Amino acid sequence: MARYTDAVCKLCRREGQKLFLKGDRCLGPKCAIDNRSYPPGIHGKKATFRRKQSDFGMQLREKQKARRVYGVMEKQFRRYFQEASRRKGLTGVVLLSILESRLDNVVYRLGFADSRAQARQLVRHGHFDVNGRKTDIPSYLVSPGDVISVRSSSRSKTYFKDRTQIMQGNVSAPAWLNLNLAEMSGSVVSEPSREDVEIPLNEQLIVEYYSR
Ligand code: SF4
Repeated sequence: MARYTDAVCKLCRREGQKLFLKGDRCLGPKCAIDNRSYPPGIHGKKATFRRKQSDFGMQLREKQKARRVYGVMEKQFRRYFQEASRRKGLTGVVLLSILESRLDNVVYRLGFADSRAQARQLVRHGHFDVNGRKTDIPSYLVSPGDVISVRSSSRSKTYFKDRTQIMQGNVSAPAWLNLNLAEMSGSVVSEPSREDVEIPLNEQLIVEYYSR
């Protein structure tokens, strides 16, 4: 399964904004956007984020930003777009709803990980059940009624014990998820809505990019 393996801070610098890809580090003094707020690469310093972008440039950047936030490769992202086009509703909003419904994103939004990348790794390592069945596919799409829980064999691990401590009174799951910290689980209450997407994204530009 392909995934991006280069330095992720470059991605934020390319987009010119924090994408929160590294958990706590993103809030601390080591954030690369705060220290080197110019694009990566040898000519990065000469470039400015204020330079005029073409319509295509803006559409491309918005699509790339969404891909990078959710850690999805181009081929799969395009498949999500095709799926969103087939479903009822505004394609851009449905696309964001599909991205939010990925299991790695749900694990992150419930607070079991500091970043989507960490959540992806936890899922890949088989620490989560969906409806009582081991599910180690980060791209698994959850539906209303699904229950996502830390596997019983993983609950005694130091990571999850520490995590539970951190989460006590410290995590607020979005309205479409219901966290049950005592059970180390969360349930999907409804489909994620547009307001539940926490990163500012202009989904219309993504639709325009793929509709060229
Ligand atoms: Fe982006 Fe986080 Fe790196 Fe800052 S620390 S540049 S927000 S990934």
